[in-house]
Amino acid sequence: MDRKKFHSETLLAHSGRIHDQVGGTVNTPVYRGSTLLFPTVDDLKSVYGTLNTYGRHGNPTTRSLEKALCELEGAFGAMLTPSGLTAVTTSLMATLKPGDHLLMTDSVYDPTRAFCDETLARFGVETTYYDPGLGADISHLIRDNTRVVFVESPGSLTFDIQDIPAIAKVAHAHDALVILDNTWGTPVNFASFQHGVDISVHAATKYIVGHSDVLMGVIMTTEALYGQVRGYYKQIGLTVSADDAYLALRGLRTLSTRLERHQRNAMIIADWLHGQPEVAQILYPALPDAPGHDLWKRDFTGACGLFGVRLHETSETAVHAMLDGMELFGMGFSWGGFESLILLTNPAPHRTATRWESNGPLLRLHIGLENPEDLIADLNSGFERLRKVINIRTSK
Ligand SMILES: *Cc1c(COP(=O)(O)O)cnc(C)c1O
Repeated sequence: MDRKKFHSETLLAHSGRIHDQVGGTVNTPVYRGSTLLFPTVDDLKSVYGTLNTYGRHGNPTTRSLEKALCELEGAFGAMLTPSGLTAVTTSLMATLKPGDHLLMTDSVYDPTRAFCDETLARFGVETTYYDPGLGADISHLIRDNTRVVFVESPGSLTFDIQDIPAIAKVAHAHDALVILDNTWGTPVNFASFQHGVDISVHAATKYIVGHSDVLMGVIMTTEALYGQVRGYYKQIGLTVSADDAYLALRGLRTLSTRLERHQRNAMIIADWLHGQPEVAQILYPALPDAPGHDLWKRDFTGACGLFGVRLHETSETAVHAMLDGMELFGMGFSWGGFESLILLTNPAPHRTATRWESNGPLLRLHIGLENPEDLIADLNSGFERLRKVINIRTSK
């Protein structure tokens, strides 16, 4: 389907359907199978060199999902991976070789950093971390052998928004590629390829699946890079199950509806948090006074339910008292599902090019689809537990 003709809500409802069957179902069913059979030698020969030879290379269910994702984000081709992290690592392995130099944002998802520092280093690729606040000035860090500039906007935990068009302009002038981790932006809210991105990767685990029950990643590329990335992907044998692809495709249909509600609830809760004396800063690019808001407004068409909350200095025991008793907010490492989550985080040890400075702790909140009044009541009880600990300590 044509992105230029239809809006994302319409694409979500209609993309990736198989129309070649009379009486076919609306959503593509689960096509389980490893072996494909061919009645004649000529039939078998006719699929040589295509993706239609063997189950590992995909099936109608995975292809429906890939097609829908491409149409939404405006990519040429997509590849599904068993997790978001394999989408990241596969995109890097497919584009880098020994002796190459990689520029990596200092705000990157921590497991991506670990892959660069250990595996890429072992394969002779050097990584330089850069300040996510750099735009065109990133040119000072480009070397003759810089092949990839990796961006993640907004950044994990700290929600720094990057000037991707400015970075892409510099990268392309030096023959380097731009790879984006677009998990927060989603295929709906950030049009990667219109902003100069060459490869967009997602943890589909988060909003694309949307129901906290499947791990999956996706790599999307321009036409120029598709053959190279698909080739590597095929050589290392990555594949996902049709059952998981089916669930992701089913989740995808409601992506924009869910995101709208996640954003609306997140705004209500961020507003309420602003009024709490313990809150020092809210790191949510959709808020007018948040860092990166202007770039977010320029480049994104919406936000999601994930943001950071920096508290004023407080005791660890008090924060634990707050978090240990939450009724609705679960504690867990993921996000993007229909449910609310809260997590105590600390970006400081994961920074090398810049410093994360904060007197108080940093919380990461994922605002789900619950009624925001109930979520506020849960947070309010949490702050009361925190205050109780502080008051006992100060009255001693
Ligand atoms: C969760 C996440 C990943 C990894 O996804 P998995 O499916 O958990 O492997 C990558 N990047 C970002 C920004 C994430 O939040």
